[in-house]
Amino acid sequence: MKYALASYRDGGAHRAALVVDETLYDLGEAFGSDAPSWARGSLDDVIARWDEASESLESLSSPGSNPLSVTPEAPLRPTRIFAAASNYVEHADEMGTVLEAKKDSNPYMFTKMSSTVIGPGESVVIPPESQKVDWEVELGVVIGKRGRRISVDDALEHVAGYTVVNDISARDLTRRDDYPFKFDWFQGKNFDTFCPLGPWVVPRSAIDDPQKLRLRLDLNGETMQDASTAGMIFDVREQIAYLSSLLTLAPGDIIATGTPTGVGMGRGVFLKPGDEMTAFIEGIGVLKNPVEAEKGVGS
Ligand code: ZN
Repeated sequence: MKYALASYRDGGAHRAALVVDETLYDLGEAFGSDAPSWARGSLDDVIARWDEASESLESLSSPGSNPLSVTPEAPLRPTRIFAAASNYVEHADEMGTVLEAKKDSNPYMFTKMSSTVIGPGESVVIPPESQKVDWEVELGVVIGKRGRRISVDDALEHVAGYTVVNDISARDLTRRDDYPFKFDWFQGKNFDTFCPLGPWVVPRSAIDDPQKLRLRLDLNGETMQDASTAGMIFDVREQIAYLSSLLTLAPGDIIATGTPTGVGMGRGVFLKPGDEMTAFIEGIGVLKNPVEAEKGVGS
């Protein structure tokens, strides 16, 4: 059975859902009366037990007979989001970033806080501190198996699945003149709502090659980014190997793997209240998010 995994809100609880043909079903119900405890919890619980869960999920033959009429929320509440900067050559060019040869370099990773995460349909809020808020569609990798010093060859075995990330960025706040350090990725990337995530997680088994996926972002119906993950400088495997040379990767970690060319900075166009972004990745799904101004501060 071809499936994805989503999250939905049931009263105050986050519950995992199975997605079949874009329809959501409660994951616990799909397993019936002998549902394992992780299947009755959140998708974070499922990913935390991914070794066991992935096997059980592959053996499911039907999602059950009670489709849910709910909107999925952000699939995960990740403790850690790692994100690759300047990981597509044409995007580096449009940003005026001059890169060393790959053989003399390593990925440049930064982090986004869990408080940046929003789900499908939720609004990205433009803070009054920035006039240059921008979009970045990215392949999101969800880690499903703990590991330190993971080899490039073994890297994909540590992946539970893939999702869509929109790495919202305040361009005018990622550079600073009041300190000798030129860049401040923390303040440019970490406003509340700056990490739309979803609409769900597609298991690794459903994606033949994560380096052959088309990714696209439309702004108000007009295509801004349209590229392939084949354009990554450091591929998914190499990013996992690099990160795990620094720290232990753990189930639930997310890696935003970099964005291709076509961001607003290269076009002189930035997000404004009333805009709608539609981020799409082949084989995964569509993540739509409107844009609004922070309340009480005007637009
Ligand atoms: Zn990014």
